[in-house]
Amino acid sequence: MARTTNPVCKMCRREGRKLYLKGTRCESDKCSVSRRNKPPGMHADRRSKPSEYGTRLREKQKLKRFYGILDRQFHRTFDQATRATGNTGEQLLSLMERRLDNVVYRMGWAGSRAAARQLVAHGHFTINGKHVDIPSLLVKPGDLVSVKARERSLSIVRKLSEGVGRKELPAYLEAQGSESEPPQCRVTRMPSRTDVDPRLEDQGPLREQLIIEFCSR
Ligand code: SF4
Repeated sequence: MARTTNPVCKMCRREGRKLYLKGTRCESDKCSVSRRNKPPGMHADRRSKPSEYGTRLREKQKLKRFYGILDRQFHRTFDQATRATGNTGEQLLSLMERRLDNVVYRMGWAGSRAAARQLVAHGHFTINGKHVDIPSLLVKPGDLVSVKARERSLSIVRKLSEGVGRKELPAYLEAQGSESEPPQCRVTRMPSRTDVDPRLEDQGPLREQLIIEFCSR
């Protein structure tokens, strides 16, 4: 499982905004963006106005880093979005939302997408009763995503979701089952542009057109 090993708070400072990559720390006053909101590096204060290329690059990096994926996978997802019918920007965001690690995160079963990714890779979930361990797997309408009904998986998910707080569920996910059953959710439909994580746009709208222009060069 390829993953970035860069210091994650530096990524937020580079983008000049919170990307919520560290779970509960992001809500606290220990957040680096709250304490020191300037790009990393010695000459950060001297940087001039970004070029058109730079603006487009930053928009692409923002989306990619928010969902915690690497460049090669991002470009693969972009190619998939261009082949799909409909607006490419909306398709791209829909594909990001359909990732299994994102579904686990948005259900509040993990404090961050990185933690969700690790949980999935360690095989703590099933889709329609089948074992899955691929974080980039795309869910589709009708899928039932469940925490495995075994003590180890249940206790890890219970521990990781502590302190995450009840998140507002996106409209395309529906919590299922009772308290006594393992946590599970049903994908009711394909996610649309309005279902995108509101935290992605809490400091200004995402300009997906710039990302399309960057990736289509
Ligand atoms: Fe670090 Fe989270 Fe703050 Fe980003 S939002 S700087 S990951 S603490």
